[in-house]
Amino acid sequence: MARKDWDTYFMDMAYMASTRSQCNRRKVGTVLVQGKKLLGTAYNGAPMGVPDCSEAGCMIVEEYELKQVEGKEQMVKKQRCVRTIHAEQNLLLFTDRGDREGSTVYVTDQPCWTCANMLANSGVVEIVFHRPYPKDSEKVRKLMEMKGLVFRQLEGYELPAGILDDVIH
Ligand SMILES: [Zn+2]
Ligand SMILES: [Zn+2]
Repeated sequence: MARKDWDTYFMDMAYMASTRSQCNRRKVGTVLVQGKKLLGTAYNGAPMGVPDCSEAGCMIVEEYELKQVEGKEQMVKKQRCVRTIHAEQNLLLFTDRGDREGSTVYVTDQPCWTCANMLANSGVVEIVFHRPYPKDSEKVRKLMEMKGLVFRQLEGYELPAGILDDVIH
């Protein structure tokens, strides 16, 4: 078997972290990397000591989103779980500012607007993601461009064997 490149290696770790998530609607994992050194891992979850999605069920909110449907803008109703702290935010809570300066974040899913905003102010200089999140994609890309952060999707990445069933829905 060919040796894994660093991008694949760290994205695998982000997916490993995501398997810890107890939210059945979305499992997100992320790692902080400085040079080639792993400085932190995190996943989405309820605050420590508070019942999580597996115990208390997901906390669903419904929102309307403006979407392009066959070339027309339409309001589409969407559901999401708001019980958890997002993986990226947990990563920022559990790492030091000094460690983050000039570092790279690998995250299984493209960050939402709030997480992107926080990452943009966190000292991180590069964000690598795998699965797209179209809802916030455009404004997040603009923000990263303005901040001069490297923001890239890992193309051609394949999930490590055995992880598949747990994180794909
Ligand atoms: Zn949930
Ligand atoms: Zn987020």
